[in-house]
Amino acid sequence: MSMLCELCKKPIQTLILEGDFGADPLWCGQCLANLELENFPLNEHLLTELTSWMCNFGEWINLETDSFIEGMEQLAKKHDEQGTILAQQVATELGIKVTFSPYLLD
Ligand SMILES: [Zn+2]
Repeated sequence: MSMLCELCKKPIQTLILEGDFGADPLWCGQCLANLELENFPLNEHLLTELTSWMCNFGEWINLETDSFIEGMEQLAKKHDEQGTILAQQVATELGIKVTFSPYLLD
């Protein structure tokens, strides 16, 4: 696969998978640009999984009060575990290195 990053225009050699509000989950490993998920040749099943994973990001945060909801640790941990698996699946599918950047740092 040879894809160019929309921002740094370099061939994408590594990707970062990271959840964030209002962003697609894949980021350029070189310039950290947020990349359009739909530009990647991923199978539909994986695309669906990534989309729901991305939509679930931050479900442990109450946006109205800007605070964590009860049980946030478990929700964020589960989300991180799914992210680890998804990063592996994207790496396999695209044949490049994908580094997962978890929400919880420990
Ligand atoms: Zn880039």
